[in-house]
Amino acid sequence: MPVDVSPLFADLDAADAATLLPLFDDVLKAMREEGSRMGRWADVLPDQLQDLLVTREHGDQSRWVDALRLLPSLTALDCDLNADDLAIASAACTATQAQAIEAGLRGLMPWRKGPFRVVDSHIDTEWRSDWKWQRLAPHLSDLTGRTVLDVGCGSGYHLWRMLGAGAFRVLGVDPSRLFLMQFQAIKRYVAAAQGVAPRADLLPFKMEDVPANLKAFDTVFSMGVLYHRKSPIEHLEELRGALKPGGELVLETLVIDGVQGEVLMPEDRYAMMRNVWFIPTVETLLLWCRRTGFRNARVVDLNRTSLDEQRTTDWMRYNSLVDFLDPEDISKTAEGYPAPLRAVIIAEA
Ligand code: SAH
Repeated sequence: MPVDVSPLFADLDAADAATLLPLFDDVLKAMREEGSRMGRWADVLPDQLQDLLVTREHGDQSRWVDALRLLPSLTALDCDLNADDLAIASAACTATQAQAIEAGLRGLMPWRKGPFRVVDSHIDTEWRSDWKWQRLAPHLSDLTGRTVLDVGCGSGYHLWRMLGAGAFRVLGVDPSRLFLMQFQAIKRYVAAAQGVAPRADLLPFKMEDVPANLKAFDTVFSMGVLYHRKSPIEHLEELRGALKPGGELVLETLVIDGVQGEVLMPEDRYAMMRNVWFIPTVETLLLWCRRTGFRNARVVDLNRTSLDEQRTTDWMRYNSLVDFLDPEDISKTAEGYPAPLRAVIIAEA
């Protein structure tokens, strides 16, 4: 039976960021549950959230909260977490409600990670994140019953797919506030379709803010994050510390062709991205995994990002991959480096 989750947003006051805090009550409770290894995080989480959402309010926060408030409550909802776009549908949505959905979701642009469908709104995101999921899903240990962390989860697209694949609880961390708002918009409708609060949460933090050595997760994903870290080795150590012994790491990152020991450090930008530090060869990356204590590290997928997988869309109108490559030779970035090639590594803690 669908539950009306509108109270979640009913008293959101754009002027009062503190009203965002109740959105995290469920995850806090779960962390405090008997037997949860996340108790140490629960001890500090309320202060972390207070500091971030209330003390350091984001300039666009009110605008995004207003967009969330436009989203109407719906009945007769349905969704399929195994569908590429989650297929959120309603048998009882009026034209006015459909327009409000479109307006609310448009208010949360740009949408980068997806796709999602919410009734008549097809959110065609910059990235076909579903393609990445299709490439890696066959290689994962069965997610059934697992507690999962997704580091740098973006809008949370893959969190939903993990839940669809049977995970018991999924937690994402990502410092982008807009991604948090997009996640909440989708979560609201998934919750209403399922009739219970989904065991999926996004915390607006960096991995560096997660208490070290929680050893709480059965599977940890880090996709598209490693090359943003000044210290990739520390990142790998953090990921291992988050995993239970024997737990599974799923690591997706940019790589270059070449032999063990080689690493590209761009002079400045890479494919117009700031904050790209180290792009190793696959063999170097496997070595990093071994040296940080992971076992059985192996590459399960290698993929040159196509212009169909990352592109400008009606929901993300800024420049995208084609603009970041050399127009004369798309095997190179605008700066002359090898064009984006991504590897998926799986290993055990
Ligand atoms: N994992 C998703 C999104 C990748 S984009 C996917 O593979 O499709 C990379 C994301 O990492 C961004 O959303 C960015 O906000 C986040 N990120 C960057 N530095 C981070 C850090 N130190 N800890 C956690 N997330 C980080």
